Amino acid sequence: MANDKNLIINKIQKGPVCIHCCASPDDGERVNAQVVETENKLIIIDTMLMRPYARELRQYADSIGKPIDRVYITHAHPDHWFGMEFFQDVKNVSLPETVEEIKMMAQLEIDFHRSQHGDLITDKMYLPVPDATEGNVEIDGVVFRLHKIVAAEDLFMLAIDLPEVKTLIAQDLIYNKVHLFVGQRSYEGTMCFDGWINALKKFMNEEYELVLPGHGVPTDASVFLENIHNLEIMRGIVESSNGENFVQNALEAFPEYGLRSMIEMSAFFLFQMK
Ligand SMILES: [Zn+2]
Repeated sequence: MANDKNLIINKIQKGPVCIHCCASPDDGERVNAQVVETENKLIIIDTMLMRPYARELRQYADSIGKPIDRVYITHAHPDHWFGMEFFQDVKNVSLPETVEEIKMMAQLEIDFHRSQHGDLITDKMYLPVPDATEGNVEIDGVVFRLHKIVAAEDLFMLAIDLPEVKTLIAQDLIYNKVHLFVGQRSYEGTMCFDGWINALKKFMNEEYELVLPGHGVPTDASVFLENIHNLEIMRGIVESSNGENFVQNALEAFPEYGLRSMIEMSAFFLFQMK
């Protein structure tokens, strides 16, 4: 780790595709943006939470020297779309439901994160084009398979796989050795656990060789069972805890995991925003 105030970039070559997994430091919620480099183009998945990291992501992408074909925004949580500010000259795409969710939540999220980080956070809402639909998209000769996930870590999420290179760009469907955010409830108040676990079970049969999480370092298909197990543990902790002891109970269950702030954010949504 050269400098803990810069992106940590992990380059992985898979056949004709090079994936640059760009991780922000802890104050940027350790969120990953993925730069998928094909022969002639770049496809970017998510755009970071904080301005310095989003700016660095853009500079890094530009340094590769290929045009950005599009940016996919996988879901409406702010650590994935705030950085769109630095990609306004290219096409940003998401599920239509994600656009609606961003519209609904943007002001609350901007106010919350600016209260913590001030001007290091965007002051404006940016909206992707609501063009993403399930199915195959071929870009520069590479098949991107888009999957819509409902009622998991967020209400609606996009996961993208590249079947030819057995790679899943899972984003927040997968966390690797980072505390899970389990604070999302459906509009009816249902918690995330069942939908999230069902989605993981669907993807775990695909025999991926490379799985790119939304938080934590790139990994392999063994992460599916680990995430399912962790979600079951977190479900038990949510059910047996209150606003006072939830954070401590979650920390004790996963002593080796990073990013305590994820637990605190879960606590806020589970016990204060009810
Ligand atoms: Zn995230």
